[in-house]
Amino acid sequence: MLSVHEALQVIRDTVTPSPPRTLSLTDAWGTVLAQDIVSREDSPPFDKSMMDGYAVRKEDISAEETTLEVVDEVTAGNVSQTRLTAGQAIRIMTGAPIPAGADAVVPIEWTESTNSASVLIRPQRSVHSGLNIIPRGQAMKQGETVLGAGRTIRAQELALLSELGCAEIDVRPRPVIAVLATGDELVPVDQTPGPGQIRNSNGLMLSAQVEQAGGIPKFLGIARDERSDLRQKIESGLEADFLCLSGGVSAGKLDLVPSELAAAGVRQVFHKIQMKPGKPIWFGILERSSLSPCYVFGLPGNPVSSMVCFELFVRDALRRWQGMDSKSLLPMRAVLRSEFRYASDRPVYWPAHLAELNGQLVVHPVNWKGSSDLRSVADANCSVVLPPAEATLPAGSLLEILPWGLTMGTMDQFTPHFG
Ligand code: AMP
Ligand code: MG
Repeated sequence: MLSVHEALQVIRDTVTPSPPRTLSLTDAWGTVLAQDIVSREDSPPFDKSMMDGYAVRKEDISAEETTLEVVDEVTAGNVSQTRLTAGQAIRIMTGAPIPAGADAVVPIEWTESTNSASVLIRPQRSVHSGLNIIPRGQAMKQGETVLGAGRTIRAQELALLSELGCAEIDVRPRPVIAVLATGDELVPVDQTPGPGQIRNSNGLMLSAQVEQAGGIPKFLGIARDERSDLRQKIESGLEADFLCLSGGVSAGKLDLVPSELAAAGVRQVFHKIQMKPGKPIWFGILERSSLSPCYVFGLPGNPVSSMVCFELFVRDALRRWQGMDSKSLLPMRAVLRSEFRYASDRPVYWPAHLAELNGQLVVHPVNWKGSSDLRSVADANCSVVLPPAEATLPAGSLLEILPWGLTMGTMDQFTPHFG
């Protein structure tokens, strides 16, 4: 049986990044850049005023007060045709280009205007050359690489790409993930379960996890533990980029998922991992002649197992498919809040609550009753990763954390540009 780390490596080796596609920037939110972005322009494109006030020549301004002749006015989007000479000022608004001859902007708050032809300036601090001016090219220069391939396009990347005029870009799109719950005992959420039945928790849960991970969910409903129904729904799920089934992968009499996937041509890559919850997880690949492969996860039926396996394995596979590097994820550790006793023969991903206390990340394992216990899991926001042991961990122990449900791109560490 594979360890979690072996399984993650096998997934990374199996999943290949999807072919890049050229998309309109309008449709690019949540996709991942498949090209480096080189600035074709300087930003800002001209020396720009950062204040509403008056463009002046620094040497004209005395420390106490100065009266200047106002010779023009320039608003954002316009260019003053007037060259400033000694004793003159030009009224200027935020975002407007600095007129020729000016080298500082005094804010409106330092001025008194007795009539539109002159202005009285009383500086509250010394006026130096460049005051309240952002020079051309200060943020970025033409020819500079400003974003690298592999970067998720979030709101700020959309803004930057808009600024640069990148109306079309090469990206790896958001993957479509079909979600299929399996089990004779399952009824939809709005129905009253009959004897021996329960409601389907995993359908909505996995669809939400897909969205949080940046994918597009396609919920296929509930398949019965019966070959023809299962086969039909699997066929439809195999049209997506990924198929996530839940249930039917253990050793029960009606656990038909692995054999039905095999019958549909899906090659098993692994079945079962040494972990808790989630041991029965199944992973495979379907090669498709005219399309890139469909990757299939058979997640265990118990909701907590399904959830944790999604956060640990499916998320990683989606990142790889979108061309992101899982090694760029921020490693997270937190301090155990109070003594914790557990026993397990497998590594455990124990549901826990992560919070901040006095500037430290602290973690509190919840009172978890096992893989079907959703009540306690609703109070959790991460798993603490515990090695197989029968142990009492003292308060203050530093533990590895698997955060749940982070929105795409949020935990990536980039090489920042501090220049
Ligand atoms: P299985 O993996 O099919 O053997 O299911 C393991 C356990 O999870 C059983 O108790 C199932 O009833 C339960 N289960 C399976 N699918 C779901 C689901 N979609 N929602 C809630 N519980 C489920
Ligand atoms: Mg089942």
